[in-house]
Amino acid sequence: MNFEEQTIKELNILKNTEKPIIIVGAAILGKMALKVLEYYNKKAICFADNNKALQGKKIKNIPIYSMKDAVRFYSDGVFILCVAIRKNIVPALKGIKKQLDCLDFNGDIISPYSIIYASQIKVLKRKIDSSKLANAIESFSVIHENTCKLPHLDICVTSKCSLNCKNCSALIPYRKPGVDADRIEIVKATKKLFSVIDGVRWLQLFGGEPFLYKDLLYVAEQISKIDNAIIISIVTNGTILPTKELLSELSRYVSIIFISNYGVLSTKLKEFVELCDKVGIVTNITDFSKQPWIDMGNFNKRYYSKDQITNIYNECKKDDCLYKITPDCKFILCERQLIPTIENNEDEIIELNDNTMDLNIIINKLSSILRLPYISACDYCKSLIEVKVPPAVQVQEKLKF
Ligand code: SF4
Ligand code: SF4
Repeated sequence: MNFEEQTIKELNILKNTEKPIIIVGAAILGKMALKVLEYYNKKAICFADNNKALQGKKIKNIPIYSMKDAVRFYSDGVFILCVAIRKNIVPALKGIKKQLDCLDFNGDIISPYSIIYASQIKVLKRKIDSSKLANAIESFSVIHENTCKLPHLDICVTSKCSLNCKNCSALIPYRKPGVDADRIEIVKATKKLFSVIDGVRWLQLFGGEPFLYKDLLYVAEQISKIDNAIIISIVTNGTILPTKELLSELSRYVSIIFISNYGVLSTKLKEFVELCDKVGIVTNITDFSKQPWIDMGNFNKRYYSKDQITNIYNECKKDDCLYKITPDCKFILCERQLIPTIENNEDEIIELNDNTMDLNIIINKLSSILRLPYISACDYCKSLIEVKVPPAVQVQEKLKF
């Protein structure tokens, strides 16, 4: 049975079942699964999650149990496995199936692939080639001889931000003054990248603050037409309240909006979430206001040994979220490459809209970038391990170079 047949079979089980439905994983994909259930006129009876901090809480009034309790109460139910959306699905799935086996589970299983597929084809009604989508869902940093899959890609539509955080992971206060992407050029650059890769499971419209960008809707709509771009999300800081009309239009293309909660700075957070609920966009809030942030350090050259620089780069690479397109259409691995005083090797950046480069050159350059043991910018980085600083501290002025 191929991927599509398997997915359709699982979705038919979901559609026709009279048994209790349990969502395993009370995180991002679990919330997206609620939308899929809504599409099929079904409801989840509970979530199940191994994270003790979540157990006993509720999402949309649906209780979150431990796995043990969920299987104890509903051992023959339909369990939707909503795991590892931003990581490698295969080992995560193996682990959760093993856990279910040990708990004497004898119900049905719906895989995360089916939920991702249904969220795009059924819920968002994207008119895309489903076999390409199926192929790209599997993606997790696989580099073949002349193509590759990426788990994640940030498209930075603007480097303007409503805040100016000293330890911004995108280094916004230290980059050249904020610029917006040209909407035609950024879409062209993104399509070009997707024409040389198998796909990206997670594509994020990013900033600065994306809701400062007037062409956000246009870019989201155009990108949703790319067959091998799977889940499209937006990241915002909760300081700007878009119109209901804009959010409603975005809900046709965007699966989820991530809201970074910066405490008192995120002045519009509550209204933003209420509006998203009204138009049916899934939100996920991360509270960055209480936990310490990572010190991003200065931009002095360190003169690391080869081993040292390789180690600090590998630490960053572990999470596999290094891939980005900048507002001026460059493919980069790290925002430190955008600091004006840092010397980059030109082989570490791809000018996607350079018309002198054909697609073969781009794919060769991309596959060599993905194989690099480190990038030059790492020699200007203190590494992002351990040193913690107070959250969301604002700097008044941009640094001048
Ligand atoms: S709100 Fe986010 S993007 Fe803007 S400066 Fe702060 S950390 Fe950076
Ligand atoms: S410069 Fe290198 S080590 Fe520093 S954050 Fe970027 S990728 Fe990681």
